[in-house]
Amino acid sequence: VKAMNKREMRYRQLGRLTAHTRDLAGKCVEETKDHWDRIDQIVFANQDKVLKAFTENKICLFHMNPSSGYGYGDVGRDALERLYASVFGGEQALVRTHWTSGTHVIKSTLFAILRPGDQLLCVTGSPYDTLLPVIGCGEGKRYPGSLAEFGVTYKQTDCLLKLESQEINVDEMAACLKELIEPMTKAVFVQRSRGYAQRKSVSLKSLAVFLEILKEKWPGIYTVVDNCYSEFTGVKEPPEVGADLTVGSLIKNPGGGLALTGGYAVGSKKCVEMVADSLYAPGLAGEVGSNPAGYRDVFQGLFLAPKVVGEALKGAVFASLLFQALGYRVDPCPGDERSDIVQSIILGDPRRLSAVTGAIQAASPVDSYVLPQPWDMPGYDHKVIMAAGGFVQGSSIELSCDAPFIPPFAAYLQGGLTKEHVILACMNAKEALENLQ
Ligand SMILES: *Cc1c(COP(=O)(O)O)cnc(C)c1O
Repeated sequence: VKAMNKREMRYRQLGRLTAHTRDLAGKCVEETKDHWDRIDQIVFANQDKVLKAFTENKICLFHMNPSSGYGYGDVGRDALERLYASVFGGEQALVRTHWTSGTHVIKSTLFAILRPGDQLLCVTGSPYDTLLPVIGCGEGKRYPGSLAEFGVTYKQTDCLLKLESQEINVDEMAACLKELIEPMTKAVFVQRSRGYAQRKSVSLKSLAVFLEILKEKWPGIYTVVDNCYSEFTGVKEPPEVGADLTVGSLIKNPGGGLALTGGYAVGSKKCVEMVADSLYAPGLAGEVGSNPAGYRDVFQGLFLAPKVVGEALKGAVFASLLFQALGYRVDPCPGDERSDIVQSIILGDPRRLSAVTGAIQAASPVDSYVLPQPWDMPGYDHKVIMAAGGFVQGSSIELSCDAPFIPPFAAYLQGGLTKEHVILACMNAKEALENLQ
């Protein structure tokens, strides 16, 4: 990260956006109307669901209080977990600030349910980059401490993505599973969001169809859903359609921009208890775990999350319209149904990618004066460039733009606590692209 020079400073002068930029943005906003209306309906349904969960679980101010030491009898923590279980439709939940990231939650979860000799089957293609060292499936690499090193084997297919994009039907997917599933297949992993990949996100509808087939034919196989970036993008969550474990990060959607760190796992009682043993220690389960900072931000963040996710979705729709109008290939397209908050924009060129990430950074409330550089981020095996200027480090429910610094130089834009922020940042990015020429 280096301080901006004079030329780059131009991106920051938001007040001086050209008339052309303002006109084009205005037109795009007009075109968002129907899409935004649909998002409003989802926001309303989710706000209703979350509010009901707060009242049914009798959340009170006392629950926000901090705890210390072992955390025995931490009533705030217990209330928070009942609340999450209600909102996500699971039997039990574990919501802990001791988890540092989504990767950490997924790691705890996989190590909780898999044993030497078991096999993990991923049905949504290659998993998120940071999971490759966890699984131990990097090309020709040995990852100490990975599942592979503990004797857990791994297989993958993209049959659920193909069902999502209607390239195959339900029978063909069932046939694909039948071919792949072996007696040692212990768990199936589903990643809903596209992450940093050119692929579709998994809708709850496809997930429901998939889980029904799997549960009918192979009831003993655990299902783990990586729900990162997908919470509240629809009106139902994976536990409601039978996922055994649904996991995610609190500094993404369900933290509503307020949670400072942490993760959650929701699902069946048995599975959530195994995850608790994996996070802490066998025998301790979820009975321990204090939080000296208190739970107010996590409670309030969950309350705000439906609305904040709605803002991020609306911003993504705007970005899709704007960059499409500028001639770039975008996915999802403006009118597509969205199952995550990620908007990909194929820029096709490293200079354009740097210009867009630089402009997004420059239009951030925090750290606006720095310029993102491609770097070797831990957990990724190629360079990554990231624009992030949020109040919580790495929080990607706040507006951020990440990209693997490799062809096709696609920017992945996500988050935004207000849609207006996303619009302003995208306008800045448009001008940055034009200034390149
Ligand atoms: C963000 C993300 C992860 C990993 O979460 P971190 O908090 O970055 O470790 C895993 N899967 C998906 C789909 C994600 O979006």
